[in-house]
Amino acid sequence: MYRTHTCGELRIQNKANKVTLAGWVQRIRELGAMTFIDLRDRYGITQLVVDEKSADDVKKITSELGREFVIRVEGEVKERSSKNTRIDTGDIEIAVENITVLNKSDLPPFTIEDNSDGGDDLRMKYRYLDLRRNPLKQALALRHKMAQEVRKYLDSQNFLEIETPYLIKSTPEGARDFVVPSRVNAGEFYALPQSPQTFKQILMVAGYDRYFQIVRCFRDEDLRADRQPEFTQIDCEMSFVEQKDILSMFEGLARHLFKNVLNVELDNVPQMLYADAMKYYGCDKPDIRFDMKISEITELVKNSGFSVFDNAEYTGAICAKNCGAYTRRQIDELTEWVKRPQIGASGLIYIKLGEDGIKSSIDKFFTTEQLQKIADKTEAQNGDLILILCGKKTKTQSMLGSLRLELGNRLGLRAVNKFAPLWIVDFPLFEWDDETQRFYAMHHPFTSPKPEDVNKFYSNKNEDIGSVNANAYDFVVNGVELGGGSIRIFDRKLQQRMFEILGFTPEAAESQFGFLMNAFKYGAPPHGGIAFGFDRFCAMFGGSDSIRDYIAFPKNNSGRDVMIDSPSPIDNVQLEELSLKVDIKKK
Ligand code: ASP
Repeated sequence: MYRTHTCGELRIQNKANKVTLAGWVQRIRELGAMTFIDLRDRYGITQLVVDEKSADDVKKITSELGREFVIRVEGEVKERSSKNTRIDTGDIEIAVENITVLNKSDLPPFTIEDNSDGGDDLRMKYRYLDLRRNPLKQALALRHKMAQEVRKYLDSQNFLEIETPYLIKSTPEGARDFVVPSRVNAGEFYALPQSPQTFKQILMVAGYDRYFQIVRCFRDEDLRADRQPEFTQIDCEMSFVEQKDILSMFEGLARHLFKNVLNVELDNVPQMLYADAMKYYGCDKPDIRFDMKISEITELVKNSGFSVFDNAEYTGAICAKNCGAYTRRQIDELTEWVKRPQIGASGLIYIKLGEDGIKSSIDKFFTTEQLQKIADKTEAQNGDLILILCGKKTKTQSMLGSLRLELGNRLGLRAVNKFAPLWIVDFPLFEWDDETQRFYAMHHPFTSPKPEDVNKFYSNKNEDIGSVNANAYDFVVNGVELGGGSIRIFDRKLQQRMFEILGFTPEAAESQFGFLMNAFKYGAPPHGGIAFGFDRFCAMFGGSDSIRDYIAFPKNNSGRDVMIDSPSPIDNVQLEELSLKVDIKKK
């Protein structure tokens, strides 16, 4: 027998028990004739003791142990003379009577402690060692718990978990597809799904009115920090529902997860119009853990002889409470921050409401009364600091949004254990792209227009089309988009019009999405759904910005799995079998 107990299990009540444990040697300490070994497994750490009373062969084997050796020990549970309150097994230790080395280990390339000394790439290369560390174990256990609770809730609501295929068909919308060559159909390719979108809609046509799946999705996007080419969604779809039904069902899921995983009671989740999110927070995923809304002051500051404002399409301000005493240096620092290329402002204007009156960087152009008007507009009071940016409207709003978040960080207003969820609703259906001179679907081409906007949807004027709102919604928590979905088009004609607006010829629409349009001929019910980013949901619950630790085997920032060294070239025989050209030059 390898073990009677795990390394996290024994307590003072087990005193005098004879036990067998197996695990990894975390640490060895020698104190005179005594040797202490921390034995670790998934469940915890138990201290082993070998001393002069131990048998000779036990002493000999102990003297040859190294870090990460896998051993089995038999011994007796004893009460420790000096207890360790930091671990659950800290009251006891095992007096070793027998020890077997089950496997030796090379010296690991980094320490397997809560705070490891290994760099990112090294830890990714030896992921199995990194995964032995507590923070990763906790992250994966949290992920497991989340998945179980998702299933529990959705099952209780009559959802069926149904798998959809991974080898599907490439479509041009959205991100790039990962493609898989077909050997038996020479010259043809499967694509890996960016999401099960069309399949879940077809399941609705098939009558499976509540579907979900915790499913891997693949997107060949340009690499950005903390983006994974494969990631997991909680993908859901329902029939015979309107937007409000979806919002309440999945608010229920969020509430269930917060309660059962974090023991946090969620208040009612507020709804915010997309237009308001942009106006007051400068982004479509506002962090509403703190207020500090953006105020537009364009008209207040126009025609004052200050050319920067006079020439600006938009001027906006935010009020940082109790920052009126900011020093020159602190303001310079913020100015440098907004001037960084990531933000791209050309300067930052301030108004301080201090003890000694109003002071600003635009005193030359504005009277105290005028400055006071700006203060009133931003609801600033004595002791506050107003920060102002101007320029093109959308760009400036977004810069103010970033500055707002940065101030939130600096002022400690974004605590990780506080959660402020909300729904963003009424997204525009389309985004216009200047470069390609065409409309793109803001969500995806299956999202329906608001019923009241259907006329504009059929208009041939771009400005009408551009102003159509969508039956779409995002679930946002603490400035992070955790989920998004929409009520779908289920009418063939409407779907055809959608493809037309997106620039598909009828033939192209037929060849890409004919299967869906065909299905719509056979009694498609009204339906809608949502998908949550599961990795991100887990990371948020774990209090982390990064999803990587919540995925057992993630890719690095260059999209590589450095443990298995992938992607990698394949040999010519394999290429030929797949009917692929063999003259790819090696890099
Ligand atoms: N399939 C969509 C996405 O991946 C989500 C949805 O509309 O349900 O964003």
